[in-house]
Amino acid sequence: MAVIQVACAQCQQTDRVVKNGKAETGNQRYLCRNCKHSFQLEYRYNANKPGTHDRIITMTMNGSGVRDIGRVLDISPTTVIVHLKHFRPTR
Ligand SMILES: [Zn+2]
Repeated sequence: MAVIQVACAQCQQTDRVVKNGKAETGNQRYLCRNCKHSFQLEYRYNANKPGTHDRIITMTMNGSGVRDIGRVLDISPTTVIVHLKHFRPTR
């Protein structure tokens, strides 16, 4: 039997990661018992991939429009607007 070492996407811990059911798309979900972060190794939708939110914020700060960002990241303009509406700048 092959064992796959899964590292937490947030704290990089490998020994406290357990399986946590399946996503709606059928992909395996994992739960880190160290930081309580729930994640998948691969995502079907580009908007859910790690780092997408940060890329939306960076592109907005560099003057890209909502439809421009949606086209480049291959996500819906509505998703871009939702990310921007929930963005709270930290000082
Ligand atoms: Zn973790």
